[in-house]
Amino acid sequence: MVAAAERVVAGLREECATPASRLDEVAAAMAGEMAAGLAEEGGSKIKMIVSYVDNLPNGSEEGLFYALDLGGTNFRVLRVQLAGKERRVVKRESREVSIPPHLMSGNSSELFCFIASALAKFVADEGHNAVFNDKQRELGFTFSFPVRQTSITSGTLIKWTKAFSIDDAVGEDVVAELQMAMEKQGLDMRVSALINDTVGTLAAGSYYDDDVVVGVILGTGSNAAYLEKASAIPKLEGELPKSGNMVINTEWGNFSSSCLPITEYDEALDRESLNPGEQIFEKLISGMYLGEIVRRVLLKISLQSSIFGNFDQTKLKTRFILRTPDISAIHHDGTPDLRIVAEKLADNLKITDTSLETRKMFVEICDIVTRRSARLAAAGIVGILRKIGRGIPGDKRKSVIAIDGGLYEHYTEFRHCLESTLTELLGEEASKSVTVKLANDGSGLGAALIAASHSQYL
Ligand code: ADP
Ligand code: MG
Repeated sequence: MVAAAERVVAGLREECATPASRLDEVAAAMAGEMAAGLAEEGGSKIKMIVSYVDNLPNGSEEGLFYALDLGGTNFRVLRVQLAGKERRVVKRESREVSIPPHLMSGNSSELFCFIASALAKFVADEGHNAVFNDKQRELGFTFSFPVRQTSITSGTLIKWTKAFSIDDAVGEDVVAELQMAMEKQGLDMRVSALINDTVGTLAAGSYYDDDVVVGVILGTGSNAAYLEKASAIPKLEGELPKSGNMVINTEWGNFSSSCLPITEYDEALDRESLNPGEQIFEKLISGMYLGEIVRRVLLKISLQSSIFGNFDQTKLKTRFILRTPDISAIHHDGTPDLRIVAEKLADNLKITDTSLETRKMFVEICDIVTRRSARLAAAGIVGILRKIGRGIPGDKRKSVIAIDGGLYEHYTEFRHCLESTLTELLGEEASKSVTVKLANDGSGLGAALIAASHSQYL
């Protein structure tokens, strides 16, 4: 019976293998899809969305700005006081509100009404502020779903991802919806920038460090944005931006390729998801899914062997019951008898009295799934670097990747694996010019910064 369980794990190990040769293919495929997506609208599964951000913040931004960050299970409202090159961010206040699950699949006016009322409350709690006697408040709106932008202040929702599914919002202008909801709340505030969280992360990163050229999100979902030369974007219409640059939101979560290591567990997860056939890369790497992949492997083991003993399988059969923070806690269990692993198995899945061998096996499954995720994320980053000709031997420029998101921030093994894989793929020499850094809450700060640089009062 142990042999049956071992066979499942061995199969998983083999199918999830990501040798450098395979990751090089992934990076090359990613770079190729990026070029195809830039060539024409609909040219690739990855949308390569023009963000209409053609200048990144340079530090001179000043004033009091608001930001709204919507994209995961929580949304955040922020108020940021910017004080120019020397003093930078002098004050940052924020409030986090969790989104009631029924609003994630209800209708769009309910969702926006909920958000606008939280925002109105945040503003009301600040009391009277003389700055706004003769000025309208301005907001940067970070909306982390694929949006077809038509300007810096408008964009229509292409599709929902992650845990959201609100049919009547698709095809609608999300800024108009938010603006309307704010008016209903009697909140006098102007949305001066609509951005994606990746674009915010890139902006916040480059606010502190000129060498930041890529922004990556590794949280509930996954995506990346980077600074592209306008001349490398054939599908860009109208006059080229003066800066000669344009930030592109890749929407790499929807990348898929025959070179990706996809298992039966991934296929089943995808089939039963809210968005079958979509966001394949995201489903392999992001925090929303890692725990669910592990659960599916454990379920298969419990069906094929009796190593978990007799237990009520109801929990193990419940989708999304294992969350990525659980996987992370298991993976980092440093106790000699893997006590935390035993607790997680017992509390989350009702699997009790496990042997040390079984616990070790559980840790290995988490390790396999997480390593695949981190290594694929690294390959995606290398794909972007290849596309812009950075991080190659002889390139003297420094390239910094700003990363935001709970998966990268809190999951140490994941982070280390991503970083060592980057070095492995770029080579010792070239990797010296490439660094990654955490841009904590970059998506919120970035929105405020871009709102400032697009203020109506400039
Ligand atoms: P979002 O992506 O929803 O905007 P975050 O960037 O805060 O929000 O990321 C939250 C996600 O990060 C969670 O869905 C979870 O997958 C992951 N995460 C949070 N905490 C941990 C942790 N301790 N270990 C591993 N992953 C975590
Ligand atoms: Mg986020």
